[in-house]
Amino acid sequence: MSDILLRGEDLVKEYAVKKTPLTGKVTKVFTALDGVSIELKAGETLGLVGESGSGKSTTGDILGDLQKPTKGTVFYKGKDIRSFTPEEYQVYRRNVQYIFQDPKGSMNPNARILDILEEPLITLKIEKSEAARRAKAEDMIQKVGLEKAILNKFPGEISGGQCQRIAVARALITEPEIIICDEAVSALDVSVQAQILNLLKDLQARLHVAYLFISHDIGVVYHMADRICVMKNGKIVERGIAEDVLEKPQHEYTRQLLECSFAKKA
Ligand code: ADP
Ligand code: MG
Repeated sequence: MSDILLRGEDLVKEYAVKKTPLTGKVTKVFTALDGVSIELKAGETLGLVGESGSGKSTTGDILGDLQKPTKGTVFYKGKDIRSFTPEEYQVYRRNVQYIFQDPKGSMNPNARILDILEEPLITLKIEKSEAARRAKAEDMIQKVGLEKAILNKFPGEISGGQCQRIAVARALITEPEIIICDEAVSALDVSVQAQILNLLKDLQARLHVAYLFISHDIGVVYHMADRICVMKNGKIVERGIAEDVLEKPQHEYTRQLLECSFAKKA
């Protein structure tokens, strides 16, 4: 059996940027994704890197079905996600989770951390028993290196780093096969960034989850990825094993990204 979990084929995303006010007729279209094909294998980390606006988030959103492509198909375990029965779709939803850049922004400020962690278990109908949900939440809290007491707090009462750990715990609580990490550490201080990256690596070794690791920072991707896709203007311009891409970049644009990243750190 193929170990490809998630695959996007010839993905195109167009946005209407100009409409005639009266008729609503689209007069200008912006192509955010222009024929992107990408695949994610079980247990790996695929880095998706490129400058802001290159189409990384759009790619991640389409693979996770947060947005629909204008053209192209997403396959989960070889099957077109649009052909799923409701039960199959539920399995896909459970197995593809997200971590975003702004964890606080994606958490209800009036919900306790416990409720935030339990939410996917309720909406995806994974765990009916309250006691079992609490046990899972407590287990996850410990897996991401936090104390149980944090379950009674609110997002406003915890630090950015703790909040991102909660986002990791929330993504993992459904026992997914894939987590789409979209700029997951970009808003954090460098020292906290390193802690979260190490946590993600540790959890991957223990739980064999695959990451689609999206970042504008090739230096961050460098620490994480087994394979890398480099995006520019809605296209993948270079792809390969991480070491090859980073040590022998073939595309001028990849070389520029590497130079910028290392110049910043020097
Ligand atoms: P990245 O994540 O690499 O920064 P995105 O995938 O978010 O890039 O965006 C790709 C391009 O699509 C950008 O130029 C962005 O401005 C444009 N875009 C994204 N969403 C919309 C939208 N809803 N309407 C119009 N343009 C959009
Ligand atoms: Mg983005």
